[in-house]
Amino acid sequence: MTPDAILALYDWEIGACFRCSAADAFVTRIDEIVTPRGERYELSACGICVLGMEEERRHHAERKGFPYVAGELGRR
Ligand SMILES: [Zn+2]
Repeated sequence: MTPDAILALYDWEIGACFRCSAADAFVTRIDEIVTPRGERYELSACGICVLGMEEERRHHAERKGFPYVAGELGRR
């Protein structure tokens, strides 16, 4: 899969990346944290970080012998 094809699997909006701290970047929501006090934070990542995490998932799947499916960050 090309990087463009992987990125096309996600929805993008302007925001900040939790991973590399890029601000005003195109990001996609990949997780949500609820603090003990009930505050809800959204974790979004930029395209470069999404590709990095997809690459990690692909390596992990290969090591474990699982099929790798792109586009599933935050959809567990
Ligand atoms: Zn980033």
